[in-house]
Parts: sequence; C-alpha cells; structure tokens
Amino acid sequence: MTDCLFCKIVAGDIEPDTVLETDNVLAFRDINPQAPTHVLVIPKRHIESINALTAEDAALVGELYLAARAVAEKEGIAESGYRTVMNCGEGAGQTVFHIHLHVLGGRALSWPPG
Ligand code: 5GP
Ligand code: ZN
Repeated sequence: MTDCLFCKIVAGDIEPDTVLETDNVLAFRDINPQAPTHVLVIPKRHIESINALTAEDAALVGELYLAARAVAEKEGIAESGYRTVMNCGEGAGQTVFHIHLHVLGGRALSWPPG
C-alpha cells in the first residue's frame, strides 16, 4: 500500500514519535493529540479497517490491545484510566484507512463521546 500514510510510517519513509514497537505492531504519538497521551497503535501489516478483518487477524487484533495496555503503563495512565477507540468508516470519523487503535488518557474523559 504505497499510498497509505501509516504504511509509509511503518516503512520508515515518515519518522514517527515511536512509543513502542514489536514484531507486528507499532505505537506512535498522534500528530494532533486530543489528550495529554494520544498514541496510535497500528499493525505493521496493512488492514483497511475493522470491516476488512478476517478470522486470521484475530491474534493480531489481540496484540493491538496488549500493546495499548503496554503504552498506557509506559505513559503512567494505566491506573488513572484511559480510552481505546477504533473508528471504522468515514461516518465514524475514520480518516486514515490503515486500522489503528487510539489510546487516549492523561485527562478526564467524558462518556458518551460526541
Ligand atoms: P482516525 O480519524 O482515522 O480515527 O485517526 C487518524 C489519526 O491519525 C488522527 O487522530 C490524526 O491526527 C492522525 N494523523 C494523521 N496524519 C498523521 C501523521 O502524519 N502522523 C501522525 N503521527 N498522526 C497522524
Ligand atoms: Zn497501510
């Protein structure tokens, strides 16, 4: 996916502010943070959205959540509370069509979101 922004980040064409990296997953700071901690956790392999997931991706999705928790621990927000969000589709606010988990914390977060 040469025209995918997050694939370019994975490839090293764009250098992210990396928080954590594993064999399959990369976590880096959002360029337009909505909270003191706002990190994006992505699979290194291109998957467009939740709608494109297959059963074979189940373990990888689990890795995204374990990485999100590791990010929260690293950022010191695991105990105070944090939110993970995965937008699916334009109507839900997805703007980058390479699946990603937002990890938000470091301030009070209201619920439900707007
Ligand atoms: P979405 O709206 O698709 O759920 O989330 C995409 C996120 O990617 C947004 O929060 C946006 O600020 C972030 N983003 C867009 N372009 C870049 C970029 O070049 N670098 C980083 N680190 N984040 C980006
Ligand atoms: Zn991609």
